[in-house]
Amino acid sequence: GSNTDFLLAVEALTVSFDGFKAVDDLSFYVDEREIRVIIGPNGAGKTTVLDLICGKTRATSGSIKFRNRELTKLRENEIVQAGVGRKFQTPSIYDDLTVFENLEISYPRGRTVFGALTFRRDAAVRERVEEIAETIFLADQLERRAEFLSHGQKQWLEIGMLLIQDPDLLMLDEPVAGMSVSERVKTAELLHRIIRDRSVIVIEHDMKFVEDIARKVTVLHQGRILAEGPMSDVKANPKVVEVYLGH
Ligand code: ADP
Repeated sequence: GSNTDFLLAVEALTVSFDGFKAVDDLSFYVDEREIRVIIGPNGAGKTTVLDLICGKTRATSGSIKFRNRELTKLRENEIVQAGVGRKFQTPSIYDDLTVFENLEISYPRGRTVFGALTFRRDAAVRERVEEIAETIFLADQLERRAEFLSHGQKQWLEIGMLLIQDPDLLMLDEPVAGMSVSERVKTAELLHRIIRDRSVIVIEHDMKFVEDIARKVTVLHQGRILAEGPMSDVKANPKVVEVYLGH
């Protein structure tokens, strides 16, 4: 099909910082219900690509089409409204609130126009919170204050806070950093669960985890694509071994 069949179509995307091209004429396409992993050495431009998609950084040139809607002209909040969720490495959960409350305030109706937090425990919200809690392995922790969760559980809670907004594209920056082995396994399971009705882009360094989750890997180097394809192909690519996997 044409490029309009993709959930996300990034084309000829470039951003220059004082003449330095952190992302250089980059094109890639993400399907519906895909987990795409972006790998590459430090400074390759991975974080900048996610910053460009979520509107945190403005492109110098090129286009980002999401469901055929051009994102490069939109503000960050408009991109969120369009259905793109981004999780940063530092958690933004509320330690003093319970798991339930953290999810509840992230529910799209949970905020008033004045920004004050409202706590509406109506049936629909409760049902949605419980459904998300189940997905993120926290169904039995709903009344627990977030500060008492493990590092991995906090990461899942933050993913849950994004999921409750029902994004069509979720972007995660090193989701398993600092997690135990069993938490990593469960996170892979979590990602497979949530792509039933959305796509995910993950920046990741943990190659075991990448193999567990990705059908297709995009390798970035100096702001460009060095290789792209199934992990088995990418791993065997001499250029990838040289710049990334070999050390
Ligand atoms: P990665 O996530 O792959 O480690 P980054 O996207 O963070 O790479 O950075 C790519 C390059 O762009 C790096 O050389 C970095 O120093 C540079 N860079 C990123 N953001 C900025 C910025 N706001 N101003 C100047 N240079 C930047």
